[in-house]
Amino acid sequence: MLKALELAGFKSFADRTRFDFPDGITVVVGPNGSGKSNIVDAMKWVLGSQSAKSLRGKDMSDVIFKGSQTRGPAGAAEATIIFDNSGGQLPIDAQEVHVTRRVYRSGEGEYLINQQAVRLKDVKALIRGTGIGIDAYSLIEQGKVDRMLQANAKDRRAIFEEAAGISRFKAKKDEAERRLARVQQNLTRLGDIVDEVA
Ligand code: ATP
Repeated sequence: MLKALELAGFKSFADRTRFDFPDGITVVVGPNGSGKSNIVDAMKWVLGSQSAKSLRGKDMSDVIFKGSQTRGPAGAAEATIIFDNSGGQLPIDAQEVHVTRRVYRSGEGEYLINQQAVRLKDVKALIRGTGIGIDAYSLIEQGKVDRMLQANAKDRRAIFEEAAGISRFKAKKDEAERRLARVQQNLTRLGDIVDEVA
């Protein structure tokens, strides 16, 4: 389902760089420090990672190409992850889904789904239940297998719920319950006012 990743101004990738992931296994090889892990960082970042530490930086602006001996720093970092949606796994009516994140030196940033500006919430809703999310199981990093094996029953259940595609509905149910609780509060307040007036 993952088709390609495009980076521009992201960490060590100053120039626009495209990685294609054809069917089968893709292996990335290169010397230490050549940017292999930056590719995984880009995937986590574009899917909404809010933690600079998890991207191996101190500050969120650390993802922007900081310049080298031969060229100046970039003004913005951009990453686009491209999914093949011909199987319809993602709840969007498009054969191909492009999710883009961009951040400027000023700190401003944006998310786009198929070139349309969206909120982070929309990106999360798009991928929820597919296993692609940053907290899901598609990105297995060092130590993660251990963490999964040692997870308590509740956390392990969450992994299975994501795999079964249930978590999308669970998130919707939680939101509906929060809304119901708010309505209930408003009703109670209304009841108080009616009592006062009567
Ligand atoms: P290893 O095999 O040692 O794990 P790697 O191939 O995974 O290495 P990465 O950790 O992905 O390499 O890349 C680190 C490189 O990225 C370093 O050379 C670092 O200077 C560079 N880098 C990180 N952030 C930026 C940035 N904002 N601008 C320019 N270069 C950056």
